[in-house]
Amino acid sequence: MSGRIKMKTPLVEMDGDEMTRVIWQWVKEILIAPYVDLKTEYYDLGLARREETGDAVTAEAAEATLKHGVAVKCATITPNAERVKEYGLSEMWKSPNGTIRAILDGTVFRAPILVKGIVPYIPTWTKPITIARHAYGDIYRNVELPAGAGSRAELVLRDSGSGAETRRTIHEFDGGGIVQGVHNTDESIASFARACFSYALDTKQDLWFAAKDTISKTYDHHFKDIFEEIFEEEYKKTFSEAGVRYSYTLIDDMVARVVRSEGGFIWACKNYDGDVMSDMVATAYGSLAMMTSVLVSPKGVFEYEAAHGTVQKHYYRYRAGEKTSTNSVATLFAWSGALRKRGELDGLLDLAAFAGKLERAAVETIENGVMTGDLYALSRTENKRQADTEDFLREAGKRLSVYAAEK
Ligand code: NAP
Ligand code: MG
Repeated sequence: MSGRIKMKTPLVEMDGDEMTRVIWQWVKEILIAPYVDLKTEYYDLGLARREETGDAVTAEAAEATLKHGVAVKCATITPNAERVKEYGLSEMWKSPNGTIRAILDGTVFRAPILVKGIVPYIPTWTKPITIARHAYGDIYRNVELPAGAGSRAELVLRDSGSGAETRRTIHEFDGGGIVQGVHNTDESIASFARACFSYALDTKQDLWFAAKDTISKTYDHHFKDIFEEIFEEEYKKTFSEAGVRYSYTLIDDMVARVVRSEGGFIWACKNYDGDVMSDMVATAYGSLAMMTSVLVSPKGVFEYEAAHGTVQKHYYRYRAGEKTSTNSVATLFAWSGALRKRGELDGLLDLAAFAGKLERAAVETIENGVMTGDLYALSRTENKRQADTEDFLREAGKRLSVYAAEK
């Protein structure tokens, strides 16, 4: 087809599993291929291919992302015992997202897609709240022990050079108890802070970081200090030029502010806070199927995906020949996010503009009453109609053909 938008650098395409793998093909075929001469470097992260390659394909896809700069990823199965049986796996392969994150490093930003007619459980949230979760350390890399009666727990830090030791008593146990050791590294905290500052500038949103430095005067305070230092030295000027702000506050105060807010900012969270708060925020906005996710690496690369999984239950129904009503919007936004970023990096204005049209087509299809079952149950739009998976994409495709013709 002539007149299609040309790309320069290939997008790293990571295919996946189950219902999202089906949606993946439809999004490309119905919405993208008619308008974009799609140039991708394709990696099949579907479980069958991971098994065939001894999971090498996952690392190869991550390496390709480092090389080309932008990736789009389909949801993938993280095997458990059942999946090992179902797919006849030789090993319980690790979570692909974990493997990719270990190679790219970086911070995951999750943001809801808002549409008219679907009111968040907190109705003042009229703009998206983006959660940035620090994905290293704290209780996720903890060391814990049960403490017997009469034991004494100490924190000992030994300098590998001089051998000098610093000791602190944690607790002397009369009866039994428990004890836990957690850590983080300056490097990881600094890289988290930089990812947050860059993303705030990139999306022109205010950034908040919150921790509990009043109680944790060394540990949490250190996070606060690193954020402050990097902000002062590297970002203060560009923030003020861009008209965005950085603020630190106590996590309790932050929770209160978030609930009272109208949204429209980035909330940077320590690992545990981000784990919990991202589920709270996603639920309050209505549906996990309307949540986008992007991994921003300090190495300057980006990986876009949907926040939900492979929608296994729907897939089994699809495989049995039934029509499902699976929401494709977050997957579609993973594609649009990646195409927009590719367009920006390569100076392809038409590609970046197309990404906007793709998103508008999906959002306006829903706002005009055509939506999948998950949204149908939530929407207050009059004359709404429940569409099946493919039907929704075709409806969005009709709108897109109109926008695509606009100059
Ligand atoms: P899931 O795929 O997110 O689906 C859980 C339920 O949420 C679905 O059964 C469905 O509810 C609803 N749902 C999620 N996405 C939806 C969509 N797009 N449209 C409509 N409804 C949607 O989570 P899961 O079933 O726990 O996990 C399935 C597989 O995904 C697992 O093997 C897991 O390892 C993998 N996973 C991958 C990622 C990733 O790659 N990033 C993330 C999470 C999970 P109803 O059945 O009520 O309609
Ligand atoms: Mg969680």
